[in-house]
Amino acid sequence: MRHIAIIGSGPAGYYSAEAAQKKFGEEVAVDIIDRLPVPFGLIRTGVAPDHQSIKAVSRRYEKTNLGDNVRFVGNVTVGEDVSIAELQDLYDAVVLATGAPNDRALDIPGSDLKGVIGSAAFVGWYNGHPDFKDLDPPLDAKSVAIIGNGNVALDVARILAKTEDEFAGSDIVGHALDGLKQSKVEKITFLGRRGPHQIAMTPKELGELGQLERARPVVDGEDFPDPGDDAMLEPGMRKSVTHLRNFQSEAADAQHKPIEIVFDFFAMPVEIRGDDTVEKLIVERTELDKDLRSTGTGERYELECQMVISCIGYRTPPIEGVPYEHGRGRFANTDGRILPGLYCVGWARRGPSGTIGTNKPDGFAIVDAIAEDIGAGGRKAGRAALDRLFAERGVETVTFRDWKKIEEAEIARAREGSPREKFTDIADMIAARD
Ligand SMILES: Cc1cc2nc3c(=O)[nH]c(=O)nc-3n(C[C@H](O)[C@H](O)[C@H](O)COP(=O)(O)OP(=O)(O)OC[C@H]3O[C@@H](n4cnc5c(N)ncnc54)[C@H](O)[C@@H]3O)c2cc1C
Repeated sequence: MRHIAIIGSGPAGYYSAEAAQKKFGEEVAVDIIDRLPVPFGLIRTGVAPDHQSIKAVSRRYEKTNLGDNVRFVGNVTVGEDVSIAELQDLYDAVVLATGAPNDRALDIPGSDLKGVIGSAAFVGWYNGHPDFKDLDPPLDAKSVAIIGNGNVALDVARILAKTEDEFAGSDIVGHALDGLKQSKVEKITFLGRRGPHQIAMTPKELGELGQLERARPVVDGEDFPDPGDDAMLEPGMRKSVTHLRNFQSEAADAQHKPIEIVFDFFAMPVEIRGDDTVEKLIVERTELDKDLRSTGTGERYELECQMVISCIGYRTPPIEGVPYEHGRGRFANTDGRILPGLYCVGWARRGPSGTIGTNKPDGFAIVDAIAEDIGAGGRKAGRAALDRLFAERGVETVTFRDWKKIEEAEIARAREGSPREKFTDIADMIAARD
């Protein structure tokens, strides 16, 4: 029997477990350990609550859990409740699928002012992550600056701009919906260092901005290269740029919508000013060099804003005993191999890029590497020894069956039209399974 511990129950963790089931059949026992009592990582706490069809991928992960040889072991923080060295003693292979949950620091003066928020915190708040339930973002802000030109920035803007009715069918948590109902926002500004041809916003998600009830995208035609240049873009990117051009040509029809979502291209935030809380952002105009890198022009201007949300990427927190690549904010690895018997997948391996599906080949490749390295396994004590260790330490774990009870309780307490009302407190989650 091969014993595999996977740390993290997000897409990378579940695809790895599925791959192990397919590769080893009954000759493997997989424990998927997560610090939360609820599974699925960013599918639950990252993917936008108004994108339910994307969240439905978790049904595939449930099937993996229905096999007897895959266990969910929730409510266990690796690095606190149990160390990597201990897990390596018990399992033939330990796979870190811990994602990249920390915001990359916004390294400019003033970034510690009240009202400056990282996207991990803001997204976690509206998605009910227990770490961020008490965030209390300043929703009385009339002007919000969003730093970044990727899909997370788009999610954040859309959530800020939607009306209550537009959240019908979503699982946005009650505290966020109540807060957003009181929102005073009038202007949301995306700041991106480069231009329309360099955005990292995918077409479907970008197109949604043109369909909002009370908000209209605003772009400046001067920022665009010659329309003929669009032909050189890859097809997805070309579609995104077409959306941006359409936002400009359709602007007159959307004038009645009160909230502006402004695309400020060639814009590099250099300082945040305010007396205790954010009052303005100092921005430097940029231009592109011949390698399409942005450089400051020296021209500066001010953007008044009362909240700044930085959507500039994420980092994997280090874990004691695991080699770490500080520059890139992820575990040091070669094709997922860290040390003998220790592996990483997903965002913990690659950094925060790609879609949910990108984690699938990662999971399958790591299981091939494990098969090569451990052969038939069989030298480790596995899950029985882990259970003994947790019993000795009084670590209270949550099983997949427990999670299904928690889920039932979340469905039962949903507001009308919503699929669930998530528990945002770990104690409430645990109480719901009893
Ligand atoms: C805001 C946002 C929106 C997104 N929207 C989309 C989308 O619409 N479509 C799409 O295709 N992709 C989307 N993505 C990308 C997608 O979510 C990621 O590709 C995917 O979740 C990465 O999977 P992962 O398993 O590596 O990490 P995660 O999903 O982050 O899972 C990591 C898991 O590890 C656990 N963990 C962390 N540390 C420990 C520890 N020490 N001990 C135990 N457990 C631990 C965490 O609790 C978590 O459950 C989005 C990402 C973000 C941030």
